[in-house]
Amino acid sequence: MILPDSLWAASAAPAVGAPPLKGRNAADVVVIGGGFTGLSTALHLAEAGKSVIVLEAGEPGWCASGRNGGQVNPGWRMLPSEITAKYGRNRGPAVLDMLNKACDAAFDVISRHGIDCDVERPGFVHAGFDPLGKAFLDGWIREWGELGLAVERYDRAGLQEFIGTDFYHFAKHDPRGGHLQPLSYARGLARAAITQGATIHGHSRVDALHQKGGGWQVVTKGGSVDTEHIVICTNAYSDRLWPNLRKSIIPISTQGGRNLVMFPQRAERSVRQIERRHQSSAVAPPSAFLRAIKPVSSSWIAGSMAGASYSARSCL
Ligand SMILES: Cc1cc2nc3c(=O)[nH]c(=O)nc-3n(C[C@H](O)[C@H](O)[C@H](O)COP(=O)(O)OP(=O)(O)OC[C@H]3O[C@@H](n4cnc5c(N)ncnc54)[C@H](O)[C@@H]3O)c2cc1C
Repeated sequence: MILPDSLWAASAAPAVGAPPLKGRNAADVVVIGGGFTGLSTALHLAEAGKSVIVLEAGEPGWCASGRNGGQVNPGWRMLPSEITAKYGRNRGPAVLDMLNKACDAAFDVISRHGIDCDVERPGFVHAGFDPLGKAFLDGWIREWGELGLAVERYDRAGLQEFIGTDFYHFAKHDPRGGHLQPLSYARGLARAAITQGATIHGHSRVDALHQKGGGWQVVTKGGSVDTEHIVICTNAYSDRLWPNLRKSIIPISTQGGRNLVMFPQRAERSVRQIERRHQSSAVAPPSAFLRAIKPVSSSWIAGSMAGASYSARSCL
């Protein structure tokens, strides 16, 4: 499985070496799936002193993690009161705390391990233009404000100044958010996990799990791993390996848009990054893609959307 063409693939930091699994092996934990979830799990387990083997069907970051919007998005559609109602008085506060700290967790891991992924933290603008959107945003600002979060509010004129368009009538600016190059981030997580002692095998689809004594044997075409624990991080690509997991996944379709006027400098910078990386690695950039974004002074977000729509088409 070769990574498909996308802006992310063209501009990413180099991939880590992840040879296919061969022969008989053993580890404390086997992580199945080398996206953000699997790689971060492996990194944290390795930091905690466990021996970890990651088995990935493609290459690390091959699926959603290497092709998404790159937004480190602090928002969740549910209001804090709705979260508490859904998860109850005991688990509700823990869910809110996790949501509140999720962006910090990503930025911390990037800074701790020096991950080169074009990360920026300018905050996150969530904008709208109809009364329903305004009511939601007002409730969101009020409820998170009561929990101590300082969110800035913008009106139409302020937005024109801030993001270069008066299309939206109101917005919030949440300082917790930012953006990054997702494939570089996935590859950086993989590199950090390996540095901490984890082993990653790409092109090693897990075909079977056998219970063996008190543990498990994890089987791929080329080899096997005996282990005590398995963490399955296969996301939407979960197959018959663990049937109940697959049953829990509901395919949905989403639409993305891109704005052609915002952040033209970032678009230029993306193009320059691709040119620089390709000059040094002597690989041809996806020229049709560059032609498409260059003349319109498109944005970083444009690249995200292209990567994202590719992932939706070729992966789901
Ligand atoms: C179009 C799109 C846009 C998105 N935009 C954003 C965004 O802007 N910001 C954001 O925060 N999130 C975004 N997301 C969500 C985000 O990409 C995912 O939540 C995240 O990547 C999930 O990571 P993961 O590791 O769980 O799954 P994945 O990255 O999908 O990894 C699962 C891995 O499991 C492997 N696998 C599957 N079966 C097996 C097997 N049997 N053996 C071995 N390996 C196996 C796959 O090859 C794959 O690499 C977006 C998602 C999509 C689809």
